[in-house]
Order: sequence, then structure tokens, then C-alpha cells
Amino acid sequence: MEYGEQDMKKLFYPLLILSLLVFSTGCNIGQSKPVQSEDFALGTIINQEVYGANAKKASDEVAVKIKELDELWTINNQGGDINKLNNNAGQGYVELNPETISILKDARKIADLSGGVAFDITVAPLVKAWGIGTDNPQVPAEDVLKKLVTLVNYQDVLVDEATNSASLLKTGQMVDLGGIAKGYIGDMAIEIYKKNGITSAFANLGGNVVVLGNKPDGSAWKVGIQNPRGQNGEIVGVVSVADKAVVTSGDYQRYFIKDGKRYCHIINPQTGYPADSGLMSVTIIASSSTEADGMSKAFVLGLEKGMELVKRYGKAEAIFITNDKKIYVTPGLQGEFQFEDATNEYTYIQNR
Ligand code: ADP
Ligand code: MG
Repeated sequence: MEYGEQDMKKLFYPLLILSLLVFSTGCNIGQSKPVQSEDFALGTIINQEVYGANAKKASDEVAVKIKELDELWTINNQGGDINKLNNNAGQGYVELNPETISILKDARKIADLSGGVAFDITVAPLVKAWGIGTDNPQVPAEDVLKKLVTLVNYQDVLVDEATNSASLLKTGQMVDLGGIAKGYIGDMAIEIYKKNGITSAFANLGGNVVVLGNKPDGSAWKVGIQNPRGQNGEIVGVVSVADKAVVTSGDYQRYFIKDGKRYCHIINPQTGYPADSGLMSVTIIASSSTEADGMSKAFVLGLEKGMELVKRYGKAEAIFITNDKKIYVTPGLQGEFQFEDATNEYTYIQNR
């Protein structure tokens, strides 16, 4: 079977094209059939493929949890935690769900790793001003962006664990968990599988893939890397993984084109403009899906600095695809990455 062929759904959610495919040859005779499910949450399609006795229970539990967290974290959901936090910006602490406190702490940790130059959840006012992925994307005036950039500072998200509360320091500040929520929920899904005694499972949260163990036949899971300028499902290579997250950020899922220029949904927190650093996509392969999602915002930094950040982090492998169609793969991944480009347009560069 093949993931990514969501033709029906594509009609309704044309901008939510999956960035990754997972190939699964199904199961050998004598092996249990997986429980497969498809849900719509977090603004995207969620696919699960879970093996073992408790597979149904575990995948149902994951689906329910995802919907719960979606409500808490969607920025525009009145009564949700993020909405509450943003509405109280500059007015002190608000009490939040412990899971929201936990993701805010993770977001802080990841932002610290890059010094806030790549991943920063306080880009929300800019995300809102650009409206990329909404029905009304626009290029905001330069002076508007200049002003909004002054509101961006992940260090202004204050968290008090003792009271499960958080606050945004300045009026007008906002957080947006769009760049980390799917990653966090991927880790959570793996925890739920494990708790249910599952040893083999795969989940794709709109391009954020997590796999538990190997496939039931003992072979590695194979995750396709999307050709950033190809049709949905057209790949440039495959990575073989076990117990890993494979997360891509790219300029091809949500973007708009104005006067011939492409504006993507990943914002450079320092300039206020959509990232424009010579990259089309960054894929991070790591044990932590949360951290992989955060690290994939190395996209903002371009090839050299982005690779530097991944190295500094030290717990991930990466695939960077540049505008000139070169695919750079970190040394630790080279045995696991198989270059497969049917278009003959890409060049595979083994990174030293
Ligand atoms: P998706 O997984 O939905 O394709 P990404 O993981 O690539 O999205 O993250 C992009 C989303 O994260 C944006 O839609 C926005 O909500 C938020 N975002 C944009 N720029 C940044 C940034 N520099 N740091 C953190 N979050 C960001
Ligand atoms: Mg993501």
C-alpha cells in the first residue's frame, strides 16, 4: 500500500499535500494484519498502521488524544489553551493544561538550541500577518513587518511549572504551535503504542512520520522523501528507519506566489519574511519527533548554517534539498538513504 495517494481528500484540502510516503509491502503470510486508520486532525490527514494484539485499542487512543490536543492547541480555537495564552498576552499568567506546559517547555528548549534564529513559536504575529495557507495570503507592508518582528522573542514565553501556568510578556505577542505540535504528538503516539505493548507501528501526521520498531517482518520501515517540485507522491529517495521520526519542512506544502515570487509558510523570525535561503526542503531523522520538527526549521538558515545547527544538536541526521536540486545527506545517513530520482533532475551529494 502507499500513503500519500489521498486523491479524495486532496480535493478538499489541496494545500495539505503530504510530504512523505511510506511504503509497506503489507505482511507476510502468518503475520498479523495491521490496524490501519485515517483521521483528519491538526489541519491534516493522520494515518496509522499498527500491529499486535492491542493495535485497535492503541490506534483509537491515539486518535482521541490527537483530537483533544488539537482543540487545546489550535490557535483560533476559542477556549483552547493557546487562544487563552495569546489573549492574555501582557496581562500575567494563565493556568493551562499540563500537556500545554510540557510542549511550551520543549519549544523553549529547541529555540534555545538555535538561539531563536530558526525555530521560534512567537513568530505567530508574523504568521497571521502573512496569512500563508489561508484564503487571503498577502505581502504585508515593510513597516508593519518591522514592528511585528519586535514582538518575536521565545524568551518572553514564561512558564511556571509549579502552577501549570504560562504567560506572554508583552501585549500583542502570540505563540503558534504549528511548527512543533505534530512532532510532539508523534512522540506521544509512540508512547501510547508502547504502553499498549505494541512493538511495530507507523504513524504519518501530515508528513511528520514516526515509526516504532521495525516492520513486523523485521525489515526497516521505508519512508519516501518527497520531490519538492514533483507531484504529491513523487519521491527523490527513500530512508530506511526503525524507532525514528522522519520530519520534513519545505516550501511546497503551504505557500503562495506573488509577482513571480514564492512565499512559503516558514517564517524567518529575524527578518519577518518567509524563509528564502536557497532550500526547498529539510528532512530531519531523529529519535525525538518533537525535536525533529523543531530542527526542521533549520530550513530558515540555508544549507551551510542549517547543517551546522543539525551538527550542533548532534542527535539527528538530515537531508537538505537546495533550490538548484542538489540533495545533501549527512554522513550518518548515507547507508540508509537510497537516492531514487525518476526525473533525473536531482544530484545526490554525499556530505562530508
Ligand atoms: P507543517 O508540518 O504543517 O508543514 P512546519 O512543521 O513546516 O509545518 O511548520 C510551519 C508552521 O509552523 C507554520 O505554518 C507556522 O504555523 C509555524 N512557523 C512558521 N515559521 C516558524 C518558525 N520559524 N519557527 C516555529 N514555527 C514556525
Ligand atoms: Mg511540521
